[in-house]
Amino acid sequence: MLRFEEALARILALGAPSLPSELVALEDADGRVLGEDLRASGDLPAFDYSSMDGYAVRLRDLDGAPPFRLPVRGESRTGAVPDGLAPNAAMRIFTGAAIPTGADAVVMQENVARDGDVAVIAERPRNGQNIRRRGADLAANAIAIAKGTRLRPAHLALAGAVDRAEVPVALRPIVTFLATGDELRRPGTDAVPGTIPESNTVALRAMARRAGAQTRAQPYVRDERAATERAFAAALEESDVLVTVGGVSVGDHDLVRPALEAVGVKLDFWRVAIKPGKPLAIGRFARSGRRDAIVVGLPGNPASAMITFAIFGVPLLRAMQGDAKPFPAFARARMTRAHAHDPGRLELARAVVSQAEQGFSVTTLGNQASGASTTMAQADALVCIAENATGVGAGDEVDVLLLSDLCS
Ligand code: AMP
Ligand code: MG
Repeated sequence: MLRFEEALARILALGAPSLPSELVALEDADGRVLGEDLRASGDLPAFDYSSMDGYAVRLRDLDGAPPFRLPVRGESRTGAVPDGLAPNAAMRIFTGAAIPTGADAVVMQENVARDGDVAVIAERPRNGQNIRRRGADLAANAIAIAKGTRLRPAHLALAGAVDRAEVPVALRPIVTFLATGDELRRPGTDAVPGTIPESNTVALRAMARRAGAQTRAQPYVRDERAATERAFAAALEESDVLVTVGGVSVGDHDLVRPALEAVGVKLDFWRVAIKPGKPLAIGRFARSGRRDAIVVGLPGNPASAMITFAIFGVPLLRAMQGDAKPFPAFARARMTRAHAHDPGRLELARAVVSQAEQGFSVTTLGNQASGASTTMAQADALVCIAENATGVGAGDEVDVLLLSDLCS
């Protein structure tokens, strides 16, 4: 059996080389992965400006001891270039307005009294006080956002601040989902005895979309060899990634592996030492003139399917987009109560985190069955319990994966 870290490293390697870039408008770039370093086209800020409403002054003009009296000459307001500061005068200035040449400090207006057109300044300002210098945030040509960054709202603001209307981001991988099983029917349709609503695809698809993919779902295929092969062959031509759901175990009706091999997928079958989600089929399919399609065969049990897709599928989709950090950092949290564990596999236990007096506390949920959909929906984290552990006790500190880092 493969250890989790090994399986993850192999999956991430399948993501290379990353997809080529396209230019998209800033408005559409949230969550996309930057394809090239974004450099500042000029200094940020582009000119010295005032961080306060007040009066621009020249320190040399402040003789002797305070209070200092200077006549107010002119005004600097946002969106305009002011005249230079007249000798022995102060200039009215507003937040964001350019510093007039000659001024070396801004006195905030709360520290200035007005006596007609004379500013009465209570204290001597420091050199540069309340002035934000050109280039202080970022010098021209410096890297504003590094290639491989998954763009968050603040990155969009920074790209806008360095005057970009568009940014190069990796193309969205095209992902097709294909659920298999004689028992499956669409949610909300006739509940024929023995059938169950197909509930995995909608969740997996949403996770993939949040990971930047363009997604499609094929109609479910029955546990019938020829139909399964036809569906796989069609999906593979049109997809960067094919995700199959169900049928990857060793039962008589588990046709996914032989069907994938029959249509030409080079398959690696992994038994990953994790719980839930042990069986995982991973493969490559050569497409002429295009990158290989990648196949991810997930187990059908809802919690297994969602957890394996969260920890392997989502990072793969991110890696395909060149994301420099496709897998999130583990958080640390203290267990509120004990959790038993049979040694052998890394357990990813569904859990709820909350803010404790110091750091986070975490509580594993009762029903950890791989078929349980409820605890998957209640969980906001997965507690990672080492494969050789015999359990964790109340008060123990554990590694935690926040689902918000994986599924959003
Ligand atoms: P399988 O991986 O095909 O052996 O299925 C394992 C369990 O998951 C069985 O109880 C299936 O009925 C169930 N299952 C398989 N696929 C799905 C699906 N797409 N949605 C909901 N349950 C599923
Ligand atoms: Mg099945």
